[in-house]
Amino acid sequence: MAARLVRGRPRGLGHSTCAFLGHLAARCEVVPETAKLLARRVPGHAVCVPEVIAVSDAQRNGREIPQDSYDAVVIGGGAAGLSAALVLGRVCRKVAVVDAGEPRNAPVAHMQGFLSRDGMPPAALLEVGRAEVAQYGVDFIAGKVEQVDRGEAAGFAVHLAGGPVLHARHVVLASGLRDELPDIPGLRERWSRDVLHCPYCHGYEVRGRAFAVLGTHPVSVNQALLVRQLSDDVVYVPGDRPLTDDERERLTARGVRIAAEGSIKRVVSADDQVRGVELEDGAVVPCEVVFVFPQMVPNDGVLDGLGCDRNPAGFLTTDDAGRTSVPGIWAVGNADDPRALVISAAGKGAAAAFALNHDLVDAEVAQAVAERRGS
Ligand SMILES: Cc1cc2nc3c(=O)[nH]c(=O)nc-3n(C[C@H](O)[C@H](O)[C@H](O)COP(=O)(O)OP(=O)(O)OC[C@H]3O[C@@H](n4cnc5c(N)ncnc54)[C@H](O)[C@@H]3O)c2cc1C
Repeated sequence: MAARLVRGRPRGLGHSTCAFLGHLAARCEVVPETAKLLARRVPGHAVCVPEVIAVSDAQRNGREIPQDSYDAVVIGGGAAGLSAALVLGRVCRKVAVVDAGEPRNAPVAHMQGFLSRDGMPPAALLEVGRAEVAQYGVDFIAGKVEQVDRGEAAGFAVHLAGGPVLHARHVVLASGLRDELPDIPGLRERWSRDVLHCPYCHGYEVRGRAFAVLGTHPVSVNQALLVRQLSDDVVYVPGDRPLTDDERERLTARGVRIAAEGSIKRVVSADDQVRGVELEDGAVVPCEVVFVFPQMVPNDGVLDGLGCDRNPAGFLTTDDAGRTSVPGIWAVGNADDPRALVISAAGKGAAAAFALNHDLVDAEVAQAVAERRGS
């Protein structure tokens, strides 16, 4: 993907603000209440209209991606990355966000469970977030990071697809994760519509319907016990993972029916709706909604050369603030924690930014003291 640079360009309020909010509402389906909320909140502050420049155009026109050093480069412009950039931008740090533009929840029309934003389209949240971040002079680069390695001086070199290299004192990995679904025909086609994984994200919207929970993952039994509170009609399909006596007892006690064991052949759909789960013997377990637990794989390969420690689940180990085992490298949101929903991913991004800024201050003070003593 070619990198594209977005620079924040502060503008005064008044007519342009209204036009901007109207533009947002029209382009991103920002719910009217959100547009009103923003309009109430922003008076007195500058509103930024991002300027987008393709790198190829920039080079043709003699403009360049900044090659000087950033205090922090944030990899990923989802809730976690934008939140980190907002906090750092507001304390006047020099920050770039590099984003490939494929947030995990992109397939869904509505984002649930974010206080004050419940039901907002995911793209609208990010559009508003980018506009807020741009007010503080953060560079936004639409592109993909391929690798991070140690720079020639202190800090890190962030290599972008297409060639540009950014230099950074700190790197915040906010690149999310990918959901790898079991290889069952018919499953992926319905993903995020009536094939779901998270009761907190979209369980309420399907409450009371006929659920089948696929036993394809070690946590599938727990998933069935959990979603049972949303429907009286839940069947567990063990597939190739036989249940223990204890699991069978717990499911039954919770009121979850158990289908016959045997490989799952496919998810059956008709008229744009899941109809059931077909087993290898041809029997179909009827249902309207399938719950399946994906294998969650962090998008952290760009750090492979740095040797950050990982936990047994394969995620980077971090402290409460998001510090990895390599000083200067941070990980937040789903890149660090598969359980993070949008609101907690944003919170982790903010928390890391506070700590990162304090680490920068400590380093700057130590350097100033050393210089003072040396003079
Ligand atoms: C189907 C589905 C529905 C969901 N619904 C909800 C919901 O209703 N409510 C809720 O709270 N949560 C929901 N979630 C969870 C939600 O998606 C995550 O909590 C959230 O996306 C985590 O934010 P993040 O910033 O960590 O990662 P993301 O939002 O995934 O953002 C990561 C960004 O980094 C970019 N990136 C990745 N690699 C690179 C790279 N090498 N270089 C540059 N950029 C890169 C990606 O393109 C992406 O834009 C849902 C998840 C799924 C799968």
